[in-house]
Amino acid sequence: MQSTSGSPPGVVVILGTGGTIAGTAASAARHVGYQAGVLGADALVAAVPALQGWPLEAETLARLDSCDMDHATWAALAQRAALHLARPDVAGVVVTHGTDTLEETAYFLHRTVAAAKPLVLTAAMRPATALSPDGPQNLFDAVTLAREPGVRGVLAVLGGVVHAGCSLRKLHGYRVDAFGSGDAGPVALLEDGRVRLLRPWPDAPLHPAVAQAADSLRAASRWPVVDIVSSHAGARGEVIDALVAAGARGLVIAGTGNGSVHAELRAAARRAVAAGAVVRRASRCLLGGVVVGQDGGGPDALPATGELTPVQARIELLLDLLAAG
Ligand code: ASP
Repeated sequence: MQSTSGSPPGVVVILGTGGTIAGTAASAARHVGYQAGVLGADALVAAVPALQGWPLEAETLARLDSCDMDHATWAALAQRAALHLARPDVAGVVVTHGTDTLEETAYFLHRTVAAAKPLVLTAAMRPATALSPDGPQNLFDAVTLAREPGVRGVLAVLGGVVHAGCSLRKLHGYRVDAFGSGDAGPVALLEDGRVRLLRPWPDAPLHPAVAQAADSLRAASRWPVVDIVSSHAGARGEVIDALVAAGARGLVIAGTGNGSVHAELRAAARRAVAAGAVVRRASRCLLGGVVVGQDGGGPDALPATGELTPVQARIELLLDLLAAG
């Protein structure tokens, strides 16, 4: 299916949060060693002549290197995005962000913002000062997608590929072509300013915490502590003990392979559960999640998080604990 972007259907609001897309380096030849999050959302729009004259609003919410993304910014971003999406004059919202935690923010928004219109994240692997920056094209594609009639849900567009917010994965630390959608595959492509749909726009089932714990969701200081522990050769259960002692109410173990967990961590997980924490297991593999067999994984198996990556599973557990009160 292919559709074209016709006359502007409404305003697109661009919410800037920082990242390399807003980063500047001392030299145009530098792709690393730059400062992320220097430029505001206005400056990003001004750098794309093709956007001039389009009905856009730009707000700078944060100037973060997204490796420092925090829960307070997530809470503010979700509220701002929801507020703008509810405006009748707004066609869609674009979020500019760093690539490092883009998949986490995308999943958080996917579970917490009712997006009957497009909520499109974008980012860049090269700073705005690079000889050949990827940010301007990505921003143009994101705005194109955000004003395309019929588009809905939390999406991310990078390198002309549209990913569902729930499937996005950063796969490479340096290359411009750094993102994938895992087994789900991309949703659409942006080709010469046109959207080519590959599969239906993703459904966006909101997490029950949105209805059951709305006040707590808005106040990040009330969010429970949920940490991730990796299973690996020589893993130490003391890591889990220390996290629980430091206040963790939830833990996700990034297991090996199909979610297997080192015996030392399994023993520590039992101690954590006895102390009242919730412990789940995901997979640290680059692709795929945890497939549980018909035996449910065995009598002592920790609950598995299915296709969720460890960072997605952490968000899901955080929201579950919020909803539980
Ligand atoms: N550290 C940067 C960030 O996530 C990397 C990037 O945006 O590509 O903000």
